[in-house]
Amino acid sequence: MLNMSRSKEMFIEAQKYIPGGVNSPVRAFKSVKMDPPFIASGKGVYIFDEDGNRYIDYVASWGPLILGHCHTEVVNALHYCLEIGTSFGAPTELETKMAKLVIDCVPSIEMVRMVNSGTEATMSALRLARGYTGRDKIVKFEGCYHGHADFLLIKAGSGALTHGVPTSPGVPNNTAQNTITAPFNDLETLEKIFEQEGENIAAVILEPVPGNMGCIPPNHGYLDGVRSLTEKYGTLLIFDEVMTGFRVALGGAQARYGIKPDITCLGKIIGGGLPVGAYGGRKDIMEKISPLGPVYQAGTLSGNPLAMTAGYTTLQILQRDGIYEKLEEKSAKLAAGMEEAAKTAGAEVYFTRVGSMFSAFFTAHEVTGFQSAATSDIDKFVAFFKALLKEGVYIAPSQFEAGFMSLVHEDKEIEKTIEACYKAFKIAGKA
Ligand SMILES: *Cc1c(COP(=O)(O)O)cnc(C)c1O
Repeated sequence: MLNMSRSKEMFIEAQKYIPGGVNSPVRAFKSVKMDPPFIASGKGVYIFDEDGNRYIDYVASWGPLILGHCHTEVVNALHYCLEIGTSFGAPTELETKMAKLVIDCVPSIEMVRMVNSGTEATMSALRLARGYTGRDKIVKFEGCYHGHADFLLIKAGSGALTHGVPTSPGVPNNTAQNTITAPFNDLETLEKIFEQEGENIAAVILEPVPGNMGCIPPNHGYLDGVRSLTEKYGTLLIFDEVMTGFRVALGGAQARYGIKPDITCLGKIIGGGLPVGAYGGRKDIMEKISPLGPVYQAGTLSGNPLAMTAGYTTLQILQRDGIYEKLEEKSAKLAAGMEEAAKTAGAEVYFTRVGSMFSAFFTAHEVTGFQSAATSDIDKFVAFFKALLKEGVYIAPSQFEAGFMSLVHEDKEIEKTIEACYKAFKIAGKA
């Protein structure tokens, strides 16, 4: 067993002062029925816990750290920024440079506004969509996560057109009533929703490649279908690319699949490990935002030099030749190794991967959405997770999260991970 005694002590102490001992719920490791390691530091592909255990990291701070921990260029740029000031609440040139860079990379973005988290980005994008269209209703998909704004913390009851039922106490019923939930990868159901409600729907928001119920590739033609349908009804299409932006391609999922959403939400990677979100899109829509237009949105620390520096440096590195080819190659290698390991170990696993996002579902079913993801055997996943951790491989502590490959994973770590997976699949198979 791993020695995690210092982490355990720290967790006990933390729970006295912080709800659940954590500042974001998944970190508590509840879904894998153990206490979390407390992290002391990270370098490159590795993180180190307070007990001195070393792990190959596939969480990457839940996506942002595509360059690994403490990338030299990012750290140097941040040092420079610290010397000149971390926030002014006044315009800086860096914000324009950052906006231009994002616009250059992401096909559908003509103007962009920086915020401080992905949650803020989706919340603001939906206010904008409602302000622009003058409609109230929105459609989201079962199992897609868009941050914790009230009207997005909704899942459907039974039946396709069930009006929203809040997933969390504290979300008013009348807020939930404007959110319609549909199953992902199911165009027929979405068409029926539009036949009944189309004229009232301000926006459809989705993760073009959902990563928050595990990684789920969109069916061939699905995103095209959603695009045509929204266009037909004058509904705005919002791609929440907080996870997929600069992850599945430089231009995100919209570049990878060739679809132009009206508004795009970004976060995670564009912050280079610091807190950032952004939303951008068509100029005529973005011009409705204050101070140009009537839709209000503001932020004391929005576009602050520190976060912009980390993000700008990261995006510049990602623009270099061959980066995404390299990521694809590393990810394909790991995926092939893991599949082989599962087969040899006799474990029943459904693998998914889009670029450097991947998942291993412990199910015999094909996974195309929330319902099929939910067929996974959680006990098996928990056994797999614990065995991997013991072998020094750190993946997200839930069946319903994606894994992330970073540019710093080299053959050595990939091979070590595959070996660890083989052992872990064997143990999971018996769970
Ligand atoms: C992480 C995530 C968010 C929320 O971003 P925060 O910065 O945690 O608020 C929203 N949408 C998607 C798709 C995400 O993966």
